[in-house]
Amino acid sequence: MVTETFVKIKAKYSDKMKKGNPIVLKEAIVDTDHLESEGMIIRLVDEHDHFIGKGYYGKQNKGYGWILTRKENEQINNEFFYNKIMNAIQFRKPFFEDKETTAFRVFNGEGDGIGGLIIDYYDGYYVISWYSLGIYQFKDSIIEALKDLVIYKGIYQKKRFAEDGKYLEEDDFVTGERGEFPLIVKENGASFAVYLNDGAMVGVFLDQREVRKAIRDRYANGKHVLNTFSYTGAFSVFAALGGAAKTTSVDLANRSRSKTIEQFSINGIDYEAQDIIVEDVFHYFKYAVKKQLTFDLVILDPPSFARSKKVTFSAAKDYTNLLKQAISITEDDGVIVASTNSASFDMKKFKGFIDKAFHDSGGKYKTLEEHTLPADFKTIKEYEEGNYLKVVFVKKIK
Ligand code: SAH
Repeated sequence: MVTETFVKIKAKYSDKMKKGNPIVLKEAIVDTDHLESEGMIIRLVDEHDHFIGKGYYGKQNKGYGWILTRKENEQINNEFFYNKIMNAIQFRKPFFEDKETTAFRVFNGEGDGIGGLIIDYYDGYYVISWYSLGIYQFKDSIIEALKDLVIYKGIYQKKRFAEDGKYLEEDDFVTGERGEFPLIVKENGASFAVYLNDGAMVGVFLDQREVRKAIRDRYANGKHVLNTFSYTGAFSVFAALGGAAKTTSVDLANRSRSKTIEQFSINGIDYEAQDIIVEDVFHYFKYAVKKQLTFDLVILDPPSFARSKKVTFSAAKDYTNLLKQAISITEDDGVIVASTNSASFDMKKFKGFIDKAFHDSGGKYKTLEEHTLPADFKTIKEYEEGNYLKVVFVKKIK
């Protein structure tokens, strides 16, 4: 038996939640004392005891749980999870049929009706990410549903929550056959090496697929490209495939060098003709200014928040400054790809950062294109924070 408990929501929050916002914020709850165990079903009511929705209690950075249904009598049981996952799979039909792309998101949290649950697909392998102990309590129903609904080679999982204050390092394998890693997946005809058993990050961020394609197909040819915060060099690979004269990838992490070499190599690109630099991006900018290096295409895709030895970077506070440094080493008529995955500000504010950076630099710019999440990263309009990705291509004009 799943325990179910009433949770009263403060007046200030209940309207938004009634209109479809699925998150249960800690500060929205009148009294959190009776929330005993994660995974318990919570019945949310407003101050007048009117039903708002039913969901589960699970602590994650975003809040204390998620609404799963607006129907008072709907049961949160095997059938419930089965139907949600079935609908999500049907929605991705064009992705399953596309032979050129074999890695995509199958289930995107609240966008597909279950906040805190993500399922990604990598060429026959499925990776389930659990964002709280609460959603993890439903693992048997969810894994069974997935096994019934898809043909799979293997299933892996990532626990993205702390247990007893600790993130457990454990084997991520769940069932089926174990993969051999790197697993080579395809994206719009290019290849990526991914590792499903090596921590939270598998080697590629699938949400940037359309941005990579744009760079390869329309921006890279003949250009000198600087890819900052380059991780495994995914943008550099697409730039090189698009005919870039040369790419320079900069990332602080030591592993980024071998990972980037690997991604170039499996795409038949001579990595020795590319620059792969392990360094703090902010040092690199200073070096580039001193050496009078300039680039035709500069890609900025920093983490929302990062701490290196000397500096902390927060996208919300420091993006304008990052852009100014990028502008100073971008050629006239060159392009800057400004990207952020920070959910703490919206596209309008992000464009404000871009505008201010050019204004402060005494230059002009033209917006060429904009991207948010691709279709497989399904979002709902009632939860705007879920559509976290913002990418703007701007041209620097003299
Ligand atoms: N743009 C990448 C994803 C970036 S992930 C892609 O498309 O795949 C964030 C990366 O930023 C991590 O690899 C991390 O090592 C790097 N990073 C964080 N702070 C940095 C800094 N100050 N200088 C250089 N790299 C940094």
